[in-house]
Amino acid sequence: MNKKHRIQAVIFGPQGCGKGTQSLLLSDRFDVPLIGSGEFFRKEISEKTVLGKIVKEYVEHGSLAPDEVVNAVMAHRLKQLDLSHGFILDGYPRNVEQAATLDRLLKINLAICIKISDKEALRRLEGRRQCITCKFIYHVTDSPPAKHGICSVCGGKLVRRADDNAEAIRRRLAAYHFMTEPLATYYRQHGVLLVVNGEQPISYVFEDLIKKIHKLGFSV
Ligand SMILES: [Zn+2]
Repeated sequence: MNKKHRIQAVIFGPQGCGKGTQSLLLSDRFDVPLIGSGEFFRKEISEKTVLGKIVKEYVEHGSLAPDEVVNAVMAHRLKQLDLSHGFILDGYPRNVEQAATLDRLLKINLAICIKISDKEALRRLEGRRQCITCKFIYHVTDSPPAKHGICSVCGGKLVRRADDNAEAIRRRLAAYHFMTEPLATYYRQHGVLLVVNGEQPISYVFEDLIKKIHKLGFSV
């Protein structure tokens, strides 16, 4: 059996589950780089690579790039990094096909799934407000600004993002269930799945994660 030391993790969950926050906290605690797939795509586009030109077409048409393109971008960028001391990968894979490709690129020894109900995701996303100036994010009841509708950081105006309406959120959640959720079964079969209840407060989710990760034998 392989002795496990550093986490080589992927993290997934529906929008609103707190994945971004937990990824940052974990990356800090385990002292491993947090790799966001979004950044890779932005780099391909800004560096005007062949892949970047293809990706840009999809972005401009508001459609998802097909697996072949996504996998090619990830392979291209992941090969440039030294990941021998562990990592957390956020935003990839998004489906089982991509997970199988990733398995040929890197060894994944931990797959973190943050679970929340659709009802809670909807509540969180519908209540979300963002400052138009500094982009800081609030929640109308969970983390309201000091003054209604005004950013506490910079005094900017708070708005609801256009894609944070109930219909669009429901559509994204349905896509998650259909496309991404099967990753749980995939990684369970590979013996690396770790599920955490994302409906608890942020610090509880994090403690829960740490406890479970330690139990699996990973070192900080
Ligand atoms: Zn602001």
